[in-house]
Order: sequence, then structure tokens, then C-alpha cells
Amino acid sequence: MNKKTELEEKIENFIRPEIRALSAYHVPDSKNLIKLDAMENPYQWPDDLVDQWLEVIRDVELNRYPDPGARILKQHLREAMAVPTDAEILLGNGSDELIQMIMMAMAGKDSSGNARSVLSVEPGFVMYKMIATFMDMPYIGVPLNDDFSLNETVLIEKIKETQPAVIFLAYPNNPTSNLFDEQTIRNIIDVAPGVVVIDEAYHAFAEKSFMPMLNEYDNLLVMRTVSKMGLAGLRLGLLAGKPEWLNEFDKVRLPYNINILTQASAEFAIKNRHVLDQQTQQICVDREQLFNELSKIKNITTYPSQANFILLRLQQGQADKVFTTLKNKGILIKNLNPAGGLLKDCLRITVGTEEENKKFLEIFKTAL
Ligand SMILES: *Cc1c(COP(=O)(O)O)cnc(C)c1O
Repeated sequence: MNKKTELEEKIENFIRPEIRALSAYHVPDSKNLIKLDAMENPYQWPDDLVDQWLEVIRDVELNRYPDPGARILKQHLREAMAVPTDAEILLGNGSDELIQMIMMAMAGKDSSGNARSVLSVEPGFVMYKMIATFMDMPYIGVPLNDDFSLNETVLIEKIKETQPAVIFLAYPNNPTSNLFDEQTIRNIIDVAPGVVVIDEAYHAFAEKSFMPMLNEYDNLLVMRTVSKMGLAGLRLGLLAGKPEWLNEFDKVRLPYNINILTQASAEFAIKNRHVLDQQTQQICVDREQLFNELSKIKNITTYPSQANFILLRLQQGQADKVFTTLKNKGILIKNLNPAGGLLKDCLRITVGTEEENKKFLEIFKTAL
């Protein structure tokens, strides 16, 4: 056994064990690769729009703090995202920060001395579990059915048993790309002791939303982000719901969390959102095209998508090999096989430009 250095001992003494046990969120190097791994919008803005944006940016006073309440941006977002008038909104540095703010405000023990917990579904968005770990909150992951639908009986049972402070459901779900049954979610909201956060990161590609239902429930929160609709670089997310909840979450928000360039750029982008809308509509058209082509391939399962990505299940033991072949030939997708469980043998492909999708298909077919 090697003797521990003094520094190693200090790390062991002073860094929380649950943090030491983690590995940092891994973002693969994508230099020179066609990037179909992270649900980004593949399109840039037309030159004249870029010029107009630069004019806006020119006047931004970088020496000043941004508006701490981002009031103008909030007003634009409220309108663009059809937030009901009596709902409050809270902005985050990406919706990841909103997830963190919710948990920071809730972590701790309830009146009977039990640690407040977080519940979501598996497979689901990995940040719910990760941030729960950061906050030392117990995380309950309830398995989806084999067809990725919600297992209502087990969910309701688990909610009653564990009394989670917060339930997260991505709608559509990542990485399975489906919309869960609306009535099942309503039943979950009805039995949830705390809040239910419907994470609508892929709203631009889906036909349904819980935003109009905010008025019906005291414990429903709806989360959106501008990332998947074409502004991933800005880092801006939005939480909508009852002011009573949001006023509490707002207390753990760091001042000026939405920087001045993001505020100005997002305001500009929303004013010109027809450009983004056109791009997301194109992505939906190309998604159907890609889905149809993939559906023709034998021996793989292609899952229908309400998002800007497609989930595939390959024959047993094929996923790692196909992923590596694609990468060696210049295409980066997401290999979900290492996640195991229902995601064994699965790959996830973000819908790119028509040309990128074609190239992917070509290489994918030869890699199989
Ligand atoms: C991508 C994604 C997010 C994170 O969005 P950011 O606003 O970029 O932090 C949140 N939820 C789901 C389900 C996602 O897929």
C-alpha cells in the first residue's frame, strides 16, 4: 500500500465523501466531429441578423452589473412562452441552475426528522440525480415501463411511501424522447406531497405542454430552457409557477445570475424568434425524415420522438462498436449502453442538418 500524501489526507478529511465518490460531468471532445450528441440546434443565424445582434451588443455596458431581476427579459419570455398571467417566473443560468436552486431551497430534514427527498424516473435526465447528490438529498429513481411509459401504479405507491419534496418529470423525456401520458401526470400531481416540476426542455419540438395547467394546481411548476431551441450558448432557463414557491426559490439565487450579454442577446433573439421557430420546425421535418429512414433498417428499434433527437436500440452487444465506428468516421453521437438498465444497447442521435443526418445514416448503415 502506498502511503497517503498529506494532501490526499486533507482531501479525504475535508471533501464530502459523496462528492469524492462522483466523477465530474463528462463532456467529450468534439473537435472536428459532426456533433449529434447534445441536442443542439445545428443552425446559425443569417448574416444580417448577426449584424443586428452585434449592434445590440455594442451598447451593452460591461462595466455595470446586469439588471438583477432581468425585468425586460422576463417580460419577453413571459409572452414568448405563454406563461399564464398569475404565474410568477424565475430565471436560471440554464435550467440546470433552476434544478439546483429548487433543491438548495428544499434540502434538509422535515419536521419528523426525515431527509427531504427527490423522485424521478429511470431512465431520465441525469442532472436530477446528480444535483440531489450534491445537495445530499436522497434520490428515488422509479423505473419506466419497457416501452418508456410511466408505471403509474409503482409511481403512486413510491410517492406515497417516500413522500418526496420534489418530483421531476421531463416532458418529453430525455433520453427516451416520448411524452408521458397526461392523465398519469395529473394523478401524480394530485398525490404529490410537495412540488412536481415538469421539465419542458424540448417543448419547441413537442405538441403538448403543462404551461396552461399552472392555474389548476398549487404544486405544479413548469420549467423551460432556450438551450434546445437554438441558444445553448447563452445559458438561460425559466421556471414558472405559483409566486409563493418561486419567492422562496428566489432567495437561494445568486445575485446577477443572468449575465448582461445573455440578457441582451436573449431579448434580441426572442424579438426575432421567427428565425428560431423556422429552424425548430425544420428540425421537426428532418426528424420525421430521419425516423423514416431509420425505421427501414432491419434489426434495430427506432423509437418515435417528440424531441430533437432519436433513440435507437441495436442488437445485443452492438452499441459500443457502432458508436466507436461513427466516432472514428467523424460523427459524435451519444452511447447510452454504458448507462445500462433499459438503455442497454441504445444510442441517441440528435437531429442535425439534412446533410449531417444523411452522412450519419450512410456511415451508420455501414457500421451495423
Ligand atoms: C438539456 C436539458 C436540460 C438542461 O438545459 P439547460 O437549460 O441547458 O441547462 C434540462 N432538462 C432536460 C430534460 C434536458 O434535456
